[in-house]
Amino acid sequence: VKIVDISLPLTADMTAWPGSSGFALTWVDQIESGHECNNSRIACDTHIGTHVDAPLHFVNKGRTVDQIPLELLIGPCRVVYLPGLLKIDAETLSSLKLETDTRRLLLKTDNSNLWTAKKKFEKNFVCLTASGAQWLVQHEISLVGIDYLSIGSYSTGVKTHQVLLEANVVVLEGLNLSEVEAGEYELICLPLKLVGAEGAPARVLLRKIAKNY
Ligand SMILES: [Zn+2]
Repeated sequence: VKIVDISLPLTADMTAWPGSSGFALTWVDQIESGHECNNSRIACDTHIGTHVDAPLHFVNKGRTVDQIPLELLIGPCRVVYLPGLLKIDAETLSSLKLETDTRRLLLKTDNSNLWTAKKKFEKNFVCLTASGAQWLVQHEISLVGIDYLSIGSYSTGVKTHQVLLEANVVVLEGLNLSEVEAGEYELICLPLKLVGAEGAPARVLLRKIAKNY
């Protein structure tokens, strides 16, 4: 069974949100310098790279990342490919004719090309609008993911986040879907168990569901 890793590598030169100090791994002890083992320390924002937004990110007293039920983070998942768009709204989503039992949805857009094209942050990334977020809530989507560092737009993304997170929809950001075709998969999403946090970096995998066995 093929497993695709859709998480971004955590490196010093990775693309980060403007104002973020990015990611740093520094050596505390090194065998090279006479220590008996190698030890490192990491420093980053909770919203670095591939990560989960918990409701607390935009909802006062909302659910924290360690409180998200694992049942939402693991299970059947639909990947849709939406090239040539800047915004994903209710109309876009309804035109997809998703099966009514879809609960996890990953949006593959032109953003996925940005991971290989350039490291510099791109403000004009493809985003989900507030109407798109409302559509997802109305259609009982419990997890939605996108292939850039925010699901909402750079300047007006607050409403999109509020609509999703107020409904306890799990938001996955910073996915690399460049190697993934549209279709049905099993999603395995494991955010770090950061107690009380509003988000956490995650390792996210897709496993192809074999239809004929
Ligand atoms: Zn985030």
